[in-house]
Amino acid sequence: IMFFDKIQAAPADPILGLGEAFKAETRPEKVNLGIGIYKNAQGETPIPRAVKAAETRLLAEEKTKNYLTIDGVAAYNAATQAMLFGENHEIIANQRAKTAQSLGGTGALRIAAEFAKRQVQAQTVWISNPTWPNHNAIFQAVGMEVRDYRYYDKNTHSLDWDGLIADLSQAKQGDVVLLHGCCHNPTGIDPTPEQWDILANMAAEKGWLPLFDFAYQGFANGLEEDAYGLRAFAKLNRELLIASSYSKNFGLYNERVGAFTLVADNAEIANRAFSQAKSIIRTIYSNPASHGASTVALVLQDPDLKAQWTDELDEMRERIKTMRQKFVDTLKECGATQDFDFIVKQNGMFSFSGLTAEQVDRLRDEFAIYAVRSGRINVAGMTDDNIRYLCESIVKVL
Ligand code: PLP
Repeated sequence: IMFFDKIQAAPADPILGLGEAFKAETRPEKVNLGIGIYKNAQGETPIPRAVKAAETRLLAEEKTKNYLTIDGVAAYNAATQAMLFGENHEIIANQRAKTAQSLGGTGALRIAAEFAKRQVQAQTVWISNPTWPNHNAIFQAVGMEVRDYRYYDKNTHSLDWDGLIADLSQAKQGDVVLLHGCCHNPTGIDPTPEQWDILANMAAEKGWLPLFDFAYQGFANGLEEDAYGLRAFAKLNRELLIASSYSKNFGLYNERVGAFTLVADNAEIANRAFSQAKSIIRTIYSNPASHGASTVALVLQDPDLKAQWTDELDEMRERIKTMRQKFVDTLKECGATQDFDFIVKQNGMFSFSGLTAEQVDRLRDEFAIYAVRSGRINVAGMTDDNIRYLCESIVKVL
């Protein structure tokens, strides 16, 4: 008897599948605006100097490969809480937060989903439309119902605030509401501070369980500024879940460094709830890998390395902002008559360009330019060398 021959092939991941197609592309002029990785002016994704320095030191000093605990590197978890809430935040002082190092932000989301389903008996999760496609998949995998809330107004290229409020008004007590901490993927559009305050208040009044996906801290306006939404929620809500990631801001994509954090009403409840999160981890991967998290912890604990890293992060953010402006200017120079100024206002690496799926297909087929079919483009994939070709090509398919 054979079992596997009846298995149907899974559809290719819409984003990772694109990377494979790009690799196989042979036209030398090819441009990759697909997967969300940062690239510098040379089109490379280098290891930040602060990270390299920390790794070198770690390797020299490392004495054992003994297992970590289920929740990972303690110094990393503490540093993560300081990043999320700010040093000396009341939540930290009162030990209301517990953090487990996770396998990237994705791993943290999966822990959060399992935790919400099993320990809070949450049935429904609310996800923005559009969102990072893996959000739907992760919550479906744990058996939760996925509902979406309006987010993007394609006519004005801005937040559909009225639609968002109307849809989230239907979220019930105990529902999980997933929010992108900053640099919304794929639109690049974030709520304003005033809007964050309104949402935080709504969450508290309605009794939602808010879940922050915080994968791009430092990519919008700065490490502190980008935490505004999360901290607004932390002020008004006694319970929160957070899935954060250092993949992007530390350039540690393949080391899988993320964190699952829960905030509870007090230390005793936090410990009890966290013991269940640890049980979940134990049955998935037992305990995490050391290298990436130890590297992050060392950078965040060492004032010199931390200063170097924040400089490098500022550089990344500034480059993206510069390329956004160049993109809009060059499109104009190439004869685009549409208004693309909205692209300058978006946050992070991604831009919802307004390109249709057909236009994206033509860019790939005729010009070897790869983007996500939703029209999401990674601005960090643009360089001084490819931007002219890119804009000329886009104008041809508009
Ligand atoms: N959440 C969002 C919105 C993302 O865009 C990403 C990465 O692309 C992640 C989570 C997961 O990041 P990680 O690579 O750390 O798992």
